[in-house]
Amino acid sequence: MSGIYLHIPFCKQKCTYCDFTSFPNRLGFAEAYMACLYKEIEMRGKELEKETFDTVYFGGGTPSVIDPKYIYGAMKQIKQCFHLSKDPEITIEMNPGTVSETKIATYKRAGINRFSVGLQTAIDAQLENLGRIHNVRDYLYCTSLLKGENFSADVMLGLKGQTQEDVRKTIEVAVGSGAKHISMYALTPEDGTPIYTDYLNGELPDGDEVRALYDYGYGLLKEHGFSRYEVSNFCKKGYGSRHNLNYWRRGEYIGFGVSASSFFYGRRFTNTFDLDEYMKCILSGFLPVIESEKVEAQDAKFEFVMLALRTAEGISAEAYKKAFGSDWKEDFAAAYTKNRPYFETDGDRTRIKDPYLYVQNQILTDFME
Ligand code: SF4
Repeated sequence: MSGIYLHIPFCKQKCTYCDFTSFPNRLGFAEAYMACLYKEIEMRGKELEKETFDTVYFGGGTPSVIDPKYIYGAMKQIKQCFHLSKDPEITIEMNPGTVSETKIATYKRAGINRFSVGLQTAIDAQLENLGRIHNVRDYLYCTSLLKGENFSADVMLGLKGQTQEDVRKTIEVAVGSGAKHISMYALTPEDGTPIYTDYLNGELPDGDEVRALYDYGYGLLKEHGFSRYEVSNFCKKGYGSRHNLNYWRRGEYIGFGVSASSFFYGRRFTNTFDLDEYMKCILSGFLPVIESEKVEAQDAKFEFVMLALRTAEGISAEAYKKAFGSDWKEDFAAAYTKNRPYFETDGDRTRIKDPYLYVQNQILTDFME
């Protein structure tokens, strides 16, 4: 099974920490962009006509900022050009400052059955500092429209002045709103973003402080009946994101839109990050790919191990053997032996022990050598 990703690169304003491909002042191009996106879907349809896709994901940017008729149109085009599985998971990311009853009704008509809502924090002053366009009341309104739906809430850690009490309040708002899935991840201050100055000035919590916030948040989520299935993702039973699990299982996916990346038939390829260039390519009848490379066997093996070790299910020795014809513990013998105390094995599966999952990056460094 494979996934489809569609990138909607428009936002109302740029958040202070954002280095995603998003264009806050180009909303007027949404119609032209979406026409190109429909075209790109059609261009890829023939090549992938034998494939079955199990998930569709609208990410951004802010997919919910554009007129929902374009999301409906994109889904119609996907259904016309690709074969979807019987019960596909179809997700849209939503900014709580951009939703309405009509939008959600249109998404549901388009077949969307999963919503990912960017709460980030339940402290309004922190939302303002992040440059978010919403406040906590917007989040509560948004999720009141999603009653009974399968939705996820994003929670950020490592914010300026953030305390355990702030994290508790945020998780309680997310859980209380009915989220069945929570993504809780640490802010990464990227060079060139306004928040980087706060980082340079030592105004953001340091690594140990963020870790303490994470451990505290994880404890609360466990109390609320959420399990951790990936280092930053927690869900009620049966509500893991199939789209993301496909990435972590090194499944194939095709991406559409500016900056979208894909992994198909052993190749990784990426579209241009330039909005004008993207549209020019499509209008001239060319795919807007700027980079394409075949993943070599050793890189593929490392990717497999690295992605699987992010998850609570860990590595399946059988799946690895099926993919590469060898034993992963032998292929990575030195790194595995060095880090053996951090692993636990249960039949076919080996995973990083629960208390060490948060620091899996340090363990994985040894696997890169
Ligand atoms: S809403 Fe998301 S994509 Fe848009 S500016 Fe903020 S962080 Fe970036």
